[in-house]
Amino acid sequence: WGTGTRDGVISSSYTTTTTITAPPSRVLQNGGDKLETMPVYLEEDIRPDIKDDIYDPTYKDKESPSPKVNYVWRNIILMSLLHLGALFGITLVSTCKFYSWLWGLFYYFVRALGITARAHPLWSHPSYKPWLPLRLFLIIANTMAFQNDIYEWAHDHRAHHKFSETHADPHNSRHGFVFSHMGWLLVCKHLAVKEKGGTLDLSDLEAEKLVMFQRRYYKPQFAADMCFILPMLVPWCFWDETFQHSLFVATFLRYAVVLNATWLVNSAAHLFGYHPYDKNISPRENVLVSLGAVGEGFHNYHHSFPYDYSASEYRWHISFTTFFIDCMASLSLAYDRKKVSKASTLSD
Ligand SMILES: [Zn+2]
Ligand SMILES: [Zn+2]
Repeated sequence: WGTGTRDGVISSSYTTTTTITAPPSRVLQNGGDKLETMPVYLEEDIRPDIKDDIYDPTYKDKESPSPKVNYVWRNIILMSLLHLGALFGITLVSTCKFYSWLWGLFYYFVRALGITARAHPLWSHPSYKPWLPLRLFLIIANTMAFQNDIYEWAHDHRAHHKFSETHADPHNSRHGFVFSHMGWLLVCKHLAVKEKGGTLDLSDLEAEKLVMFQRRYYKPQFAADMCFILPMLVPWCFWDETFQHSLFVATFLRYAVVLNATWLVNSAAHLFGYHPYDKNISPRENVLVSLGAVGEGFHNYHHSFPYDYSASEYRWHISFTTFFIDCMASLSLAYDRKKVSKASTLSD
């Protein structure tokens, strides 16, 4: 889709949504000439809370020789075993029981929501607020996702937004598809990630008791149990699925598919697609990635307006996450959803 022809829903029709306008940094990022075409009220930055997830175009890589690559062999072995198990799982898919299919699908969405509805829009970019019951559900879903605790995930993700496409970006897409997809998890982080990551403001997360509780008591073993043991035991115990199908399809294959769908946001959505909102940044709009990552592939928009709770100009358009957050809002379990006004999204 092209600039100026988009027909997203204007958010002001939602009573509990805060419609906000783009901050000056976004306007300046597109060049001074854009200032004249923007409404005057954009001068006022009314974006609340943390701003350390906004792209900093002044930060550039220092000229230095490429550092030696240090492999993390534990991760390489575990990821290889997982993917080998998942490949074997593919051969068993056609002989799975119907309930195992449903279970795999259910767990896929719960686990995906743990990242897309919580770690991402809620704590990396505080773009909506959940009441306690939803907070508890999301913290459990996030633990099931087995992708580090919230604090660490949000820390890496803010660095990815602020220092995008530099050495300080943990999954810098300038190193290519493989590195930004999975490779970054298999090697030690670049020194710049640690250096610049240490300068990020995470005070909002430090003030959140539940986040710090999860960080303090986050045990990889417990998360692994939630991610592997539980989804394997349910089909095996409740509808007599074979152990082989429960392990290789409902557990390994499902987990590998979810992981790869999430990683595509860092790889494919930074390399393939359109730039309708900001041509000066690498992230792109990629519908296929959105399909797999329950609505996270509108990445040019998301990097331009990270504080928009739907991570796209649209609402329910290929976004199960936005649908979920809106359902929670209609049940009074979420509030203060922040949506960028349509006028702010028009870049020319
Ligand atoms: Zn990105
Ligand atoms: Zn983000």
